[in-house]
Parts: sequence; C-alpha cells; structure tokens
Amino acid sequence: MITCSDAVRQLWSFLDGEVAGPERTALEEHLGVCRRCCGELEFAGELRGFLRAHASEELPAEARTLLTSYLDEL
Ligand SMILES: [Zn+2]
Repeated sequence: MITCSDAVRQLWSFLDGEVAGPERTALEEHLGVCRRCCGELEFAGELRGFLRAHASEELPAEARTLLTSYLDEL
C-alpha cells in the first residue's frame, strides 16, 4: 500500500490520466480505502476545473495564499 503523501503527489498526474499500470492500480487501491485522499482527489479535481476555467486570469493572491497553506498541511 502506498502512503498518503505518495498518493497526493500523484493526484494531479492521475487527474491528467498520466498515471498508468501498477502505479495507477496502487493509487486507485489507496483512494478506495483512504477517506482522506478521496477528499484530496475531489479537492484537486475541483481546483483543476477552477484553474482551467480561469486559465487566462491570474490566481488572486488571496487564493494563492490559501492554497499554499492548504498544500503545506498535506
Ligand atoms: Zn491516503
């Protein structure tokens, strides 16, 4: 079983469909049992959607600060 930090590190690649093979299996397995990382995946998915929708805009400094402090807690 991979650790939460391993799972979180791969989340964005996973959302991009860039994680394949045994790594993907391990990640899906982890997400299946780990409630915390499931929340993480949802958060990352939402965030990606937001960033994509606002791709041409600068991320507001406030949002950046929030995001950074959030990521620091992982
Ligand atoms: Zn986890």
